[in-house]
Parts: sequence; structure tokens; C-alpha cells
Amino acid sequence: MELHTPIEKISRLSDLQKKGLNKLQIKSVLDLLLYFPARYSDISTVTNIGDIEAGIPITLFGVIKNLKTKKSFHTKVTMAEGTLEDLTGKISLVWFNQPYIAKMLHDGDNVMISGTANIQKNGTFSIVNGNIQKQEGLPIDIHDSLFQKENVSNYKFGAPIYKETKGISSLWIQKTLEKIFNEKIHTQVTDPIPEYILKKYSLPDIQKALLWIHRPEKKEHAEAARKRFSFQEIFLIQVARTKEKEESKKDGSYGIHTEEKILQEFIDNLPFEPTDAQINAMNAVVEDLKKTHPMSRLLEGDVGSGKTVVAALATYATIKTRPKNQKFGTLQVAYMAPTEILATQHFESFIEFFKGTGIQIALITGSGCRKFPTKVASATKPWTTISRTQLSKWVEQGEISVVVGTHALIQKSVVFKHLALAIVDEQHRFGQKQRRALAKKTSVNSSVSPHFLSMTATPIPRTLALTIYGDLDITLLDQLPSGRKKVQTEIITEKTREEMYSKIKEEIKNGRQLYVICPRINDPDESDEIKLIAKSVETEAKRLKKEIFKNESIGVLHGKMTPQKKEQVMEEFSNGKIQILVATSVVEVGVNVPNANMMIIEGAERFGLAQIHQLRGRTKRGSHQAYCFLLADAKQQKTVDRLQALVDTDDGFKLAELDLEQRGTGELAGFKQWGVSDIAMEALRNIKLVEAARNEAQKIIADDFELQKNPLLKEKVEEIKEMHFE
Ligand code: ADP
Ligand code: MG
Repeated sequence: MELHTPIEKISRLSDLQKKGLNKLQIKSVLDLLLYFPARYSDISTVTNIGDIEAGIPITLFGVIKNLKTKKSFHTKVTMAEGTLEDLTGKISLVWFNQPYIAKMLHDGDNVMISGTANIQKNGTFSIVNGNIQKQEGLPIDIHDSLFQKENVSNYKFGAPIYKETKGISSLWIQKTLEKIFNEKIHTQVTDPIPEYILKKYSLPDIQKALLWIHRPEKKEHAEAARKRFSFQEIFLIQVARTKEKEESKKDGSYGIHTEEKILQEFIDNLPFEPTDAQINAMNAVVEDLKKTHPMSRLLEGDVGSGKTVVAALATYATIKTRPKNQKFGTLQVAYMAPTEILATQHFESFIEFFKGTGIQIALITGSGCRKFPTKVASATKPWTTISRTQLSKWVEQGEISVVVGTHALIQKSVVFKHLALAIVDEQHRFGQKQRRALAKKTSVNSSVSPHFLSMTATPIPRTLALTIYGDLDITLLDQLPSGRKKVQTEIITEKTREEMYSKIKEEIKNGRQLYVICPRINDPDESDEIKLIAKSVETEAKRLKKEIFKNESIGVLHGKMTPQKKEQVMEEFSNGKIQILVATSVVEVGVNVPNANMMIIEGAERFGLAQIHQLRGRTKRGSHQAYCFLLADAKQQKTVDRLQALVDTDDGFKLAELDLEQRGTGELAGFKQWGVSDIAMEALRNIKLVEAARNEAQKIIADDFELQKNPLLKEKVEEIKEMHFE
């Protein structure tokens, strides 16, 4: 057996197991060694049903029975119910709005459930919306240790629990790993982290860490091993990013020194007073533009913080300035947005910002091209349609100085004469390849790279930003223009649900529209997850139609629909044909629907705070007061406390930090999309660790740019580059 031996060579596999391993992307012995436990069974919170006390978080193991789904008589909400039994007693389990629970499980299944017990009117206990996991057998002989409490003290630290999939249980993984450890194959794994770094931060070497993460004898072992692997991932990403940043400094760019007078002229012509945050950002950008290597700056700011005007000033400064020692006319700017609608909106804002200046602006999207100004302008349509060939010609000749567009912009046929600044809006919606294609777009007859400004409204914690955007300088627009209305956010319980519906009906009568977001579902199987969510969306839409909104028109939007169908529904919601849109959180509702000023979020406790914040941002696109209703199980005080932050603050970045702080919500926080593994997420809670990784990465790159002295590190960095950057 070696590290690269396929698993099927060391263990006989059924078809189901092969499929399962494939899904988990485990092919070789090494892959399995690097498949880390999600957590460890922790004896300290495991309780006998007979010993339950109300209000304390507990974990129970037992057999589930009497599963059924029904509708609550009063509130008409779907409920799943069951009973959990162990040798010491029974407890009832209830889930609201999660009908799929009953489908996921079967009577007689062994399960583990975590939650907080409540006392019911009749004196018995129940757990509402507990987190349930099917167990294939019990991962450790819990019952023995439970029923002989005196054993608990010599109980070794818990067994590892892995994320499972059909055919592959934690138990199977443990047994297979046992074979691998018995043959000491883990000692063949080499360490990409230089030894002096491990010493400096007291991290175990990779061989010890592998043993400790899979077979900890005590809690400290598991913790040290996890810390090591989370440091490793952050460190590798940092090395890759730092290298990239240094590489880009070798590129040349136009040094643009804009006269103060020109900047002032732009500010004076604005219809509003810029915020301090905007001024800071503008200054940072103006300074960057002066450099003769490309700026790479990320502007992070909540929806409505006014990022567009910063982009507009950068554009104005670029076009109105002749670079040092150059004789030719205007420089050019490219501005890319992820959707046609957004690109068109930016084109229109730029027309507003630049009218009367003579600056030539064009729009390019899949549906065609436009140009401003034009001799055939009318009051409602200041631009004219042009052909793509015309656009290409004028851009190549340098006559059009600003080109706004979708990714149509990065096509080879669009050639610039003197591209000096490239801007990407909503940068996270683009792949790294597309962003890079724009950032590296050079001009005819010139090898100069454009300055690069990217913008995002996605609130993420600072540690995550430092890591994944390690190659960028970051500016935060942490201030909304004054007088901006907040989304009025309320936590709704089953008691106040009816009241909420009445209020919404009133608003709908006045012409407003409503989003209903259905709960997230964490099914280990992704395609099952999409199916289950689609189903819950359909079910909720039917329920609302039948019981609450009998006279309103309701549409649905979910991942099982074709793109055409989705587009059609969005169009109908946009033009008001549909008044209520029931959707999943994952469906991008990228369109501006100013009339939709209300949002219900079902199962709000299942979402990260920052994610809810982003969702609710969609309700304030118009001039109407916006409302967000958070439906959660209010019996759990902790849940309410957590969601209260959404009532209290409107700062998405603060909410993202809170998400990170709150242990146990890692799964819910929606960080997965950033391509950082669960284990690295653990490091992101720790700013010191992230800064340490960053410092060490910078030192290594400064000293050994090509990583010739660190070949193992080099290899790993290449791997991680492929994973994170493409
Ligand atoms: P985002 O950061 O979401 O891209 P926008 O740039 O689209 O925000 O700005 C949102 C709205 O706020 C626009 O209508 C813009 O004109 C306006 N705006 C931007 N800055 C200010 C300001 N300092 N004062 C008042 N309104 C502003
Ligand atoms: Mg914007």
C-alpha cells in the first residue's frame, strides 16, 4: 500500500460505496487521509432522555419512531413529528416547515439529535427544530458509557464523525483508516510547511497531525491538528496570492496624475454630497492611478453605499488626464457588470454623470450595442443603437473612451487603443478567469496593463477578505449616504404569523410585492438537496395560495426550473403580473424590482446573518418603506438573540463578523461559496492566525520568489492555485 494506491485495492467496495467515494472525491489512500472529520462525538453534551432538563443544549442518541407529517390546525404550517426513544425514556420531536424530515428518515432509524428541550403543557419534553442526523449504528458505544456514568471520566476523547454520504459511513471511514495507520502509510506524507514555521507557532508536523486529527486521544490533539491544517490552507492561499501580487507589480501601467481641478469639477457636478467613506475611497484610487504598475484594489461596500460614483470618478480622472510623457489623446476605460440589466443601468448612470462633457460612452451586451452621445437623441433616449462592428472599430481607434458591458467586453474582438482602467462590478459573480481576462486586457500596440478596480457588495469577515483577496488592496465603504431608509426587520413567531399576513395583504392591495424565501436544507446529497428545496418551494406556494393569499397571484423560482422558465417568472414578477414570488435563497434574484418591498424568510435560523442581510437588501430598491419578516423558532432564546442583530444593525460587514464568531453556525453561515474548506474556516475565526499566515507568506515570497528553496511548498501552491483561482 502506498499513498496513491486506489481505495478499491485496499478494501472491497460495493457499487454504492464506489459511488459514495466518488461523490466525496476520495480516490486514493492519500485522499482518505486528507478527508478530515467534521467533528468529534463529545461525551460532555450527550444526555440520557431520562436526565433531560429544559433550556440546556443537549445531544441525544436513540431510535426514532412514529414519524409523520401534518398541518398545524391553528397556523396551518406543515409540521413533521416523531418520537425519540432510548432505554431511559421518550421525547417528542417537532419540526416546523420542514416536511422533508419525515421523508429523509424512517421509523426505527438510529439517530443523533442536538437541540434544546422545552417543557410542554402536559409536563413532558419536546425538541423543536432539532438538528437531526441519521447514524449507521452509533459511532461510538455511547450507550455503554452512558449507562455507566462512572465510566465517563476514563472515556477517551470522542470518535471522529465524518460527513457521510450514501454508502460511506463514519464507521466505514474509521475502519479503512485503521488499515492505513496500521501500515504507517501516513508517515509517507511530506510536509509543505517549513519546519521553522511549525516550530514558531507550535504546530504539529504533518504526520503527527494526520494521526491526531483522525484518532485523537484527547481533545488537545484534535485541536492542535485542526489548527495546523487550517493554518496550512490559509498559508498556502496566502503564498499563492502574495506571489500573484508581486508578479503583477512587474507589469507596466499608465501613470495617471490627475489635476486637482478636474477632480473638484467632478465632485461639484454631483447631485449629492459624497460621504466621507466615498471621499476616502476616491483618494485611494486617485493615488493608485498615479503608479506605473497596475492598481489592484477591491472596493467593498453594502448595497446602496454608492460604489458606482467611485467608479465614475476613477473613470473621469482617467479620461481627463494625459499620462506622463505621452502625446496621444484620451485613455480608455472598460467597466464590466455581471448581467445585462446591471450593465445597462451603469451605462445610464454614466450618461447622467458625464452628460455635457463630450465623453463618448458605449454599451456592449449580448443583445446589442449603444452609444452616447448621439445627434438623434431624444429626451427619453439620449443614446443610439450601433452595430457591434461599429463599436469595435470606434473602440479600436480610441474614439469611444468608456465601454460598459457584460462579459461580452472581454471577447477578443473588442480591442482597445489605450485601455488604462478596467472596472468589475459585483466581482464575485465572475469567475477568476473572466476577471483576469479583463485585468490583463492589453491594448493594440502596447503591453501596458490596465489599472484594476473591482467592487463587491458581499459582506465577508475581514479575515476571509485578507485571505481570498490577498492579492488586492481593500477599501471598505462602511457608510451609507445619509437619509437612507433601513429595512424594517421583525422577528415573527407562530403567534404573530397571522398578523404579519394581514399586514402584507394591505401592502399588496396598495400595489406592493412580496418575496417568500424558503428555508435552507442541508442534505449531504446535493442533488437531493435541490430536489427537496424545490419541493418545499412548491408546497409553500400551494399552501399560501390555498390558505392565505387566495386572490393574489403567486409564482415560484427554484433550481429545478429551466433558465427560460426562470427568466419568464422573473419577468412576470418584474412587471407585476406576479405579486408574490416564492423562491429559494440560492436563486439569484439579480433584478431590480422596486415595487417588491417585502420579504418573508422562513426558517430564518437556518441562514447566516450576512446572508439574510443580503437577501433583505432586495426589498429596498424602490422608494417604499421596506419590510423583512424573519420566521424562526422563537422558543429558542439563542436563536432569537442571534437574529436580533438583524433588527438592530444594518451593517452587513458587522453581521458577517458575527456569523463567524458564533460557533456552531459554520454550516449555516454560507461561507462555502468562497471555496475555503471547513477546516480553513476554523482559522478564519482567529485573526492572529490569519495574520501570522500572511506574514510568513510575505516573508517567504520576499526571500524566495520562485519557491526554489521550498519545492514541496511550491507544489502545493500550484495545486491550491488550481483549486481556488479557476
Ligand atoms: P452600490 O454601492 O450598491 O453600487 P450605487 O452606487 O448604485 O450603490 O448607489 C445607490 C444610490 O445612491 C444611487 O442612486 C446613487 O446615485 C446614490 N448615492 C450614491 N452616493 C450618494 C451620496 N453620497 N448621497 C446621496 N446619494 C448617493
Ligand atoms: Mg452597484
